[in-house]
Amino acid sequence: MPLSPCFALVDVETTGLSPQHHRVIEVAVIRVQRVGDTWQASPWHSLIDPGVPIPAAISRLTGVTAARCAGAPAFPALAAELLRQLEGAVFVAHQARFDYGFVRAELARAGHAFSARTLCTVRLSRLLEPQAEDHTLDGLLARHGLTAPERHRALGDARALWDLVQALAARHGERALRLAASRLLRHPGLPSHLPAQALDEVPAGPGVYAMLGARGQPLYVGRSSHLRRRLASHFSTDPTRERAARLAAETHRLEWRRTAGELGARLLEAQWIRERQPSHNIAQRRVWPWFVRLPAEGRRAEFLRGDRLAPGEECGLFGPFGSRPAAREALVEAATRSGLCLAVLALERRASGEPCFRRQLGRCAGACVGQVPAGTQWQALAEALAEWRVPPWPASGPVTLREDDPAGTAQWHVLWHWRHVGSADDPQVAEGLCSLAPAEPLDPGIYRLLRRLLPADPR
Ligand SMILES: [Zn+2]
Repeated sequence: MPLSPCFALVDVETTGLSPQHHRVIEVAVIRVQRVGDTWQASPWHSLIDPGVPIPAAISRLTGVTAARCAGAPAFPALAAELLRQLEGAVFVAHQARFDYGFVRAELARAGHAFSARTLCTVRLSRLLEPQAEDHTLDGLLARHGLTAPERHRALGDARALWDLVQALAARHGERALRLAASRLLRHPGLPSHLPAQALDEVPAGPGVYAMLGARGQPLYVGRSSHLRRRLASHFSTDPTRERAARLAAETHRLEWRRTAGELGARLLEAQWIRERQPSHNIAQRRVWPWFVRLPAEGRRAEFLRGDRLAPGEECGLFGPFGSRPAAREALVEAATRSGLCLAVLALERRASGEPCFRRQLGRCAGACVGQVPAGTQWQALAEALAEWRVPPWPASGPVTLREDDPAGTAQWHVLWHWRHVGSADDPQVAEGLCSLAPAEPLDPGIYRLLRRLLPADPR
């Protein structure tokens, strides 16, 4: 029955529904492997002493009582044998997430990291028989005319599952079964270093994610309005797109944080990039923004690096520019556009008394030769650069923006002097943030975002 070359049908009985809070009381594995032309099924099972009381309802359903478990081994004593049973096999179960979750949690408590590719027989049945409504184990057994003598015992249910897989193969053909299984097993390009379920826990809402390498080093930080879909897209990229493929292959671990919305995601993304300096975020890594102060009467424009300016000091300056040469280039461009004299503005040398180079090309209105008054050149340049002027912070103190999550929660973002001070899920914590001064240099991306979001200076 080729679901895959080797697969393990697994069933666990438990004291409840939560892998974190409840325990496994019985486990069964039927390991199925191809031997020559046939499939060989080897069953294994054990009762387990859970070390906690077994609820009466569970005992009634399964017939497994505390008395029966009393002489059974505790889970850690079985862990090595269970791992042998599951080794290299596709983990097949009905509602596979439940059984897989319990097996993983118990093995983790026993000190074993375990991950496997899983195949859920509910999904398999849905794929093969989309017209049927009932895909519960009882419903499926009835539909396929199967009886399960020991239903609700681990080995009885695992055997029922094996019967069911064989019945599906008989009804639909082995080829159809194999195709359906491989469709469910396919995690396109999910890198081998990541567990097959790596994306299952990632939320569907907005937030920020980090892809980490083998030593936990940050490789890439991004944001999305749909974290899981965005991360999946990282791993389903065309393998010929080399940089994307390399990033996916280097990823060993994922980290993410859900935010209330787009604004929170943008603010947190900038913070993570600043703090972690991920190697693949080449364009966004720390480059200091530059600002320009134009002299009132003096001779030269001052070029100032953003990290040397205190919060609020940018107000009235021009910027932010990506680099010092970029700042200078913007000045030259604005001056040229307005027919200003680069020589008078000390952006270009000239021999004294001579017309400047651009005057000779007819692109300077003539401040250098007294054609227009030289004293107004700086004022004119300031006007030509108006779009680059940093406006005053439009409030007397920090501004708190509330962002609502469609799920019903909210986040409060505290902003001051075109900087992000911090965010909180609680308005009182946000109020506390308001007493902090912004610690970081101005981030050009956040500055532009806030320029769009906040109304112009009301003063
Ligand atoms: Zn000139």
